[in-house]
Amino acid sequence: MTACSCDYDRLMSFDVGLQRLLDSAKPVTETETVSLEDAAGRVLAADVLSTIAVPPAANSAMDGYAVNTRSLPESLLVPISQRIAAGQQGTLLEPGTAARIFTGSEIPPGADAVIMQEQTRHVGEDIQLLIHPKAGDHIRPAGQDIQPGRCVVAKGTKLDGRHLGVIASVGVAEVTVYRRIKVAILTTGDELVLPGEEAGPGKIYNSNYFTLKGLLERMGIEVVFPGIIEDDPQVTQDALAAAAEDADLVISSGGVSVGEEDHVKAAVESLGELMLWRLAIKPGKPLAYGRVGQTPFIGLPGNPAAVLVTFLMLASPYIKTMQGCSDVLPKRYTVKSGYERTKVVAREEFLRAALSVQDGELVAAPAHSQSSGVLSSSVMSDGLLVIPAEQAVAVGDPLEFIPFNGLLG
Ligand code: AMP
Ligand code: MG
Repeated sequence: MTACSCDYDRLMSFDVGLQRLLDSAKPVTETETVSLEDAAGRVLAADVLSTIAVPPAANSAMDGYAVNTRSLPESLLVPISQRIAAGQQGTLLEPGTAARIFTGSEIPPGADAVIMQEQTRHVGEDIQLLIHPKAGDHIRPAGQDIQPGRCVVAKGTKLDGRHLGVIASVGVAEVTVYRRIKVAILTTGDELVLPGEEAGPGKIYNSNYFTLKGLLERMGIEVVFPGIIEDDPQVTQDALAAAAEDADLVISSGGVSVGEEDHVKAAVESLGELMLWRLAIKPGKPLAYGRVGQTPFIGLPGNPAAVLVTFLMLASPYIKTMQGCSDVLPKRYTVKSGYERTKVVAREEFLRAALSVQDGELVAAPAHSQSSGVLSSSVMSDGLLVIPAEQAVAVGDPLEFIPFNGLLG
């Protein structure tokens, strides 16, 4: 299919654009087994089930004394009959005695409560309990955390330290994960130079490459960068073809508008197929999607803030789907608007905004500049404030907010 002008003539809503992307994203199927040591950031390809109870046995939540509440003498003065350090197992508790016990030590058979050492006093060799403990006090029962047979982390989860800790707690040393995917970043434009190079007249630094590389690497993606692609039809076509050979997905920035120096569109059309959408979002109206050969292709706009927003809101859920993640959409929270805008905008807006707490409520205030060329406002912001299309905003209005720290995973 070639560029569909009917799509380009009318604005497409964000939701429709995102749905079209997600519907066509193909999750990787190849899996590999990796050690838990190397599993951070990988996506689980099979549920992790526990074969054991965690903790495996009832243990003490405190440093103190294990007793049997039903066999305590009325005086609550008891001899210490054994000492159980962490990693040791006690023996059957003699009635009317206490076992010295430490946090994490297994409760000896016959005991039904632990009394904290702060609630006892030494009287010679014996121990005086200062209160009468109740059965179950300060005992963490076997299986309190995890019962045998439970799925502790589900297929499709991107593993972080929380998951690795839980998997380790059930004694699993290796996990099955999806193959890592490779994304090629094509930044186009004769005006671009890399930081460290001289930015002569007419030149600007290539920020989009670093924005995209940073975001992709944080997602656990292997990044391929063939260098800056000059504004030339053949160079663009050759670079796209090579990138598509090497990567699972090609992402470009710039060159998808309708200017004479925008060669990406024609190059993708000649190597595969391309759809160019005018999304009803701000920033980031032009978005291209298609394939180069059989490799999927996403063409982001050139403007740096538009790159950030379209990557986070559209490309990232698509890539997470490719990675095999089950949870691909960013979480949205309702906050109060800290600003007013009487002008109504036809496109849905994703404003870089900072959060603060005012009168106990979260309030989002948009950064001063929302120009699609202004990237620096993103580092002074906590996330994206969503202003629905055609809506005026008053101070205090409830609006959706998408925190960057939820988006950057
Ligand atoms: P284009 O879509 O190629 O016309 O680019 C739109 C705007 O984004 C122009 O001002 C470009 O100079 C700028 N731009 C494109 N690519 C980059 C990049 N990699 N880094 C910074 N700015 C860029
Ligand atoms: Mg350009």
